[in-house]
Amino acid sequence: MDRYCADDCKADARRWQRAQANLKYRASQLGKQARQAQAIRYRARRKEQKDAETRQQTASKQGQLNASEQPREGCHQDESEEKSCCDRPGC
Ligand SMILES: [Zn+2]
Repeated sequence: MDRYCADDCKADARRWQRAQANLKYRASQLGKQARQAQAIRYRARRKEQKDAETRQQTASKQGQLNASEQPREGCHQDESEEKSCCDRPGC
């Protein structure tokens, strides 16, 4: 049952979870449409980027392995924090 590292963390976690639930709710309502539109734009941009990368890599032919560690766009920066301590990011 102990998903959190301490009691005060638990209290913070409760607030955090409420905020998360709120975010999720809003995201589920508003995000659906926005996300679809974003995905379309993102895919188009991604394709442009890839084309540009391909051109660059073809031009420089250095064989550098940077392509696999391109920074991902999006909002998943919290994931590493989530695993560092407990279930609560920023703990
Ligand atoms: Zn914690």
